[in-house]
Amino acid sequence: MSRPLRFTFILGLAALATALAAVGGWRFARASAPVSGPIIVISIDTLRADHLPAYGYRGVPTPAIDALAADGVLFERAYSHTPQTLPAHAAILTGRLPSETGVRDDVGFTVKAGERLLAQMLRDRGYTTAGVVSSFVLRKDTGIAQGFDFFDADIPAGRGGIRAGQVKRDGAVSEAIAERWFESIGSARAFVFLHLDEPHAPYLPPERFSEYPPYDAEIAYSDAIVGRFIRYLKSHQLYDRSTIVLLSDHGEGLRDHGEQEHGVLLHEEAIHVPLVIKQEGNAGAGRRVADLVQHIDLVPTILELVKAPVPGNLRGRSLKPLLDGTGHLPARSVYSEALYGRYRFGWSELTSLTDERYRYIKAPHEELYDLQRDPREQTNIADERRVRDAMRRALDRMADGATIRAVGDVTAEARERLQAIEYVSTAGAGPESTLADPKEKLEVLDTYRTALDAAAGRRWAEAIALFQETLRELPEAADIWRQLAETAEHLERYDVATDAYRHYVELRPSEPEGYLGAAAVLLKQRKLEEARAQAAQVIEIAAKSAQRMAGHELLARIALARRDADTARQEADIARDADPRTPLPTFVQARLLYDEGRFVDALPLFEQALAEQQKRGGASLAELHYYAADTYAHLERYADAEAQFAAELREFPHNIRARGGLALLYHAMDRLDAAAAVIGELTDITPTPESYALAARLWTAIGNRLQADAVRAAARSEFPEAVQRNQPISR
Ligand SMILES: [Zn+2]
Repeated sequence: MSRPLRFTFILGLAALATALAAVGGWRFARASAPVSGPIIVISIDTLRADHLPAYGYRGVPTPAIDALAADGVLFERAYSHTPQTLPAHAAILTGRLPSETGVRDDVGFTVKAGERLLAQMLRDRGYTTAGVVSSFVLRKDTGIAQGFDFFDADIPAGRGGIRAGQVKRDGAVSEAIAERWFESIGSARAFVFLHLDEPHAPYLPPERFSEYPPYDAEIAYSDAIVGRFIRYLKSHQLYDRSTIVLLSDHGEGLRDHGEQEHGVLLHEEAIHVPLVIKQEGNAGAGRRVADLVQHIDLVPTILELVKAPVPGNLRGRSLKPLLDGTGHLPARSVYSEALYGRYRFGWSELTSLTDERYRYIKAPHEELYDLQRDPREQTNIADERRVRDAMRRALDRMADGATIRAVGDVTAEARERLQAIEYVSTAGAGPESTLADPKEKLEVLDTYRTALDAAAGRRWAEAIALFQETLRELPEAADIWRQLAETAEHLERYDVATDAYRHYVELRPSEPEGYLGAAAVLLKQRKLEEARAQAAQVIEIAAKSAQRMAGHELLARIALARRDADTARQEADIARDADPRTPLPTFVQARLLYDEGRFVDALPLFEQALAEQQKRGGASLAELHYYAADTYAHLERYADAEAQFAAELREFPHNIRARGGLALLYHAMDRLDAAAAVIGELTDITPTPESYALAARLWTAIGNRLQADAVRAAARSEFPEAVQRNQPISR
C-alpha cells in the first residue's frame, strides 16, 4: 500500500464517527448535518430500469447494484428528459431541462460556458471534483467537464467493427482511473462522477458473461465494475460515509416499439431509468419510493444534502423528504423530448409528458397510454380526448418558449468520430405539420444504422449498398451522400464517390465540404485539372478561413502532383498568411526537394516542418510524417524512419503507403516477422483493392511469391467486380 498511513487513520476515525451517528438513526436523519463524506454519481449509460433485478427483472444477476439498493433508497419511477447521452447528462449535472440548457442532441451542441454544473457547485463548497467518462460523446469540449478539477475522457480511437459514434472505453479502465484519483487526493471531501458506457451498443461483453443475452451481459459487466468500485470504497473506509447515486441517462429500445437502440422514441423503455441513492451512513436503507421523480431533481437533492443553497433557476425538487421517508412531494409531471430524428433526418420532434398515470406523446400521430393499465404501452388511447387534450395543454405550457434551434458547428474530429451526419436544416424543413412521424420511419433508420455498422466494420461494399438504399428513402440527406462518397472512396468506386459528392454539392452548394471531397477524389484519380477546378470552388465560397486554408492546401498538393513548383509555393504561402503557424510552406519546400531525390537537402526541411507542426499542435498535416519517414529511410536512419511511419499511421491508419513503407523498412532492418505482420495488417485494416495490390507487390518484393499469389487470390474473391489492374499507388 503506497497510501500515506495518516490518511487511512483519519478516514478510519471518521468512519467510526459515522457508525456511531448511525446508531441513533432517527437522530441522524433529523439532525441532518451536511454530508461530509464523498459524493459519488455513477451513471451507467443506456441502462433500462426494467432490466435490473432491483426493478423486478429475472434475466441477469447484478449483485453489486442489488447490495447498493439494499443500502440505499430506490426510486421506482425515475425518468430521463431525453434518450440521448449528452443532453441527458447535461440535465443530470445542471438540474435543468434540455430546452433550458439548450443541449438537445449529442452532436452540434455544447454546455454553455455560463452554465453552472454540479461539479462547480460542489467545488464552491470545498469539494475536490473528478469526472471520469467512457464515451467520446462526453468528451471535454462538450463543456460537460466544467467545474471538474480532474476530468478524464481519454477514449481510445475506434477499433474495427465499431461504429465511430459508439467508441467507448472499457468501464473497468474508467473505474481504475477513478480509484487512482481517490488515492491521489487524500481527502474524503470529494465529488466523483463516474460514467460507464457498457450497456450502450455495440454489446461486446467479456466472454465470462456470454450465458446472458448480449445487452444483459453488458449489464452484468457494468455491475461487476460497480462492485469493484464499491469494494475499493469499503476497503478504504469510505463506503459508509459516501453518498452514492446510481442512475442511467436513458434506456434502450430493444424493439419494444420498433427501435433497437435509442434516440428517436419516448416510450417507457427509452426514458424509465434506474435511480438509487445510498446516503451517508446508509440512512433509509432499503426504502423504495413510488413517487414520480426526474433527472433534474438530482442537483437540488445533492445541494440539500450538502446544505448548499439551490439556485433559483432550477425546476427540479430536492428528493430529501423521500429519502428520509418523512413525506411525499406534490405530484408532478415529467417532460421529455426526442430531437434526434428532427436534427438528423428532418422528421418531426417528439415531446412527451409522463404523470402518475398517463404518458402523452406529441407527434404527427399523437399517442396516449394508460401506464397503470397498460404499462407496456401497447394500446394507444389518444382518442380519449379529455385526457389527451389536458395532457397536450400541460405539455405545451411546459415546453413554452423553447424553440428548436439550429445546431452549432461540428468539428471535423467530432464528425469523424461520431459519424455524425450533418443536420437537415430545420429552417428549410417546412411547416411542422408536414414533418414525418419518426415512428413511421424506423425501417430506414435501421437501414442507415446498419450501413454505419458496415462502414465501421470496413465491410465497405455492403455499406455502399445500404447507404444507397437509405438515400432512396432520404434523398435530401446531404450528409448521407457524403458518407456514401467517403465509403465509395475506400473501395475506389470513384464513379460512385464523384456522383455522391455531386448530390451533396447540389443540396449544399454553399458548403465547401462537397468540393473539397470531390477535389480529393479527382486528385487520387490524377485528374488534376478537374481536381484544381473543384478546389478553386472552395476558395470561392469558403466563409471561414479554416475552409479556405483547406482549399489552398489542396491546391498546393495538386500543384505538387503537377510538378508545378511555383504554384505549390504560392498556395502554401497564401495558407501561411491565413495561419502563420502552418507547416505547409516548409512541407512544400521539402517535398519539392524530395521529388527531385535530394533527400539530404529535404531532410532538414521535413524536420523543421515537424517542429512547426509540434509547436502548432492539433491534427497533423496529412503525409508529413510519411514523407519524413521515407526520407529517413532513404538516408538509412531506420529508427527515426520507424518512429515517423508509426506517427503517420497513428493519425492516418488508412495511409497504405505508410504501412507499406514500414513493412519495407522492417525488411531492410532484417526484422522479417515484423515486416510480415505489417503486410498482414495492410489488408486487415484497409481492405481495399489497392491495399491488396500493394500487399501482393510487397510480398513479391521481399521474395515470397507464395504469399503474393495468396493475396491476389483473396483479392479476386473479395472484390470480384474490381478489374485486376496493376494500378499505381495514388499519391
Ligand atoms: Zn447514453
